[in-house]
Amino acid sequence: METKLLLYNTLTRRKETFEPINPPHVGMYVCGPTVYGDPHLGHARPAITFDLLFRYLKAEGYKVRYVRNITDVGHLEHDADDGEDKIAKKARLEQLEPMEVAHYYTERYKSAMQALNVESPSIEPFASGHIIEQIEFIKRIIDHGFAYESNGSIYFDVEKYNEKYHYGVLSGRNLDDIVTDTRKLDGQEDKRHSYDFALWKKASPEHIMRWPSPWSEGFPGWHMECSAMSTKYLGERFDIHGGGMDLMFPHHECEIAQSTSALGHDSAKYWVHNNMITINGQKMGKSLGNFITLEEVFTGNHRLLAQAYSPMTVRFFILQAHYRSTLDFSNDALQAAEKGLDRMMKGIEALGKIKPSAASTVNPDELEARCEEAMADDLNSPMVISALFDWVRVINQLVEGQQTITAEDLDKLNGIFKRWAFDILGLRDEKSASAAAGKDLVTPLVEMLLDIRSTAKANRDWATSDKIRDGLTAAGIRVKDRKDGVDWEIE
Ligand code: ZN
Repeated sequence: METKLLLYNTLTRRKETFEPINPPHVGMYVCGPTVYGDPHLGHARPAITFDLLFRYLKAEGYKVRYVRNITDVGHLEHDADDGEDKIAKKARLEQLEPMEVAHYYTERYKSAMQALNVESPSIEPFASGHIIEQIEFIKRIIDHGFAYESNGSIYFDVEKYNEKYHYGVLSGRNLDDIVTDTRKLDGQEDKRHSYDFALWKKASPEHIMRWPSPWSEGFPGWHMECSAMSTKYLGERFDIHGGGMDLMFPHHECEIAQSTSALGHDSAKYWVHNNMITINGQKMGKSLGNFITLEEVFTGNHRLLAQAYSPMTVRFFILQAHYRSTLDFSNDALQAAEKGLDRMMKGIEALGKIKPSAASTVNPDELEARCEEAMADDLNSPMVISALFDWVRVINQLVEGQQTITAEDLDKLNGIFKRWAFDILGLRDEKSASAAAGKDLVTPLVEMLLDIRSTAKANRDWATSDKIRDGLTAAGIRVKDRKDGVDWEIE
């Protein structure tokens, strides 16, 4: 914890020195997926961004409690449409229990996250498992006079809140802009104002996901779960609240209003938002035909994809951009990321081929300092990657004998690559992972042939030696004879 982390706070619109409320403990809440459909590209960026922050804070010695919720109830389109829950709608259409739908897509989400090497959070609470906490939270808002009942539903009184606090503090809007924005969406006659939002909705007779409450049988509004679950598990004041930029308004704005009206203050100290992924320059959307699920990315089974891209290629691609920059998903960009990742992994593998010397002409501390400095500057992962790439070049010079390194420095260099590439960036060597799973037959076969070849050479049996070399070349394997042994790579 020696380096001071600068973190961009969306609330104050500047980078701030990260100072946890109760160090070394850090409480972090991130809005997770709504589980009514397959996980898609839009899920990958926030998951990887906050996984990076989670891993980095832990590597710096913090004890992080990371809560990422699963929305399995109450997510209505725009908060003001036909009033049917997306999960309930899917369940009705497919004749399933709503919990079957939620369970199925939760499992799909988790396995996609595992493929992307996203660590499991400390707690993954379901909205449907916290109805009581949500009702209690709503009661506090009513007690403080910032909500009203109408036909069994409870709405947040935005105007009243705005008289005392500022509704729009996060998104930088003011109430007049919001009135113009939401007038069109006004479809709910129960509300006093179009910008008021539901804390509790009375269920219509056909609505299947419903719970008893003091006001009606119904279900909580979408924003409520995050206020209730974040404060339940992290306390009324916690350190970081994260999510995608698309959640800033209305979701996070409403969360701030809910927490402030119930607790008298916002609960999160730092609000952190990742930018969006676009596809060939366009926003991703079902209606635009450019909606790509993670499974389609991993299998290449989508008309916009020229090939399959491995989960680590996707992770590397996302980490190569700063989390607050936009990121455009295209075949060219993905193919470049695939090459870059391969170069990085080959470099790390080549670390094992370096022979230590009596003296070092290189200083691994420089790499550690560069990575640390970049990461502490608002999680600048692209700069970390660029520092590692500079050292992949150094590794190659060390292998070729153009530079030298002591055994102690080599150990250090190995540790630095492990810490930054694997522990913090969360990359995984997919090739050696599949080798470990027994899928790689090439390595043992090539090693065996090279072994036979070196015996042949020792016996001056040049015909056999050349035959093996030429055969491997024809199979696309380049054999490199070095001073101190044989090396090979797939061309
Ligand atoms: Zn949320």
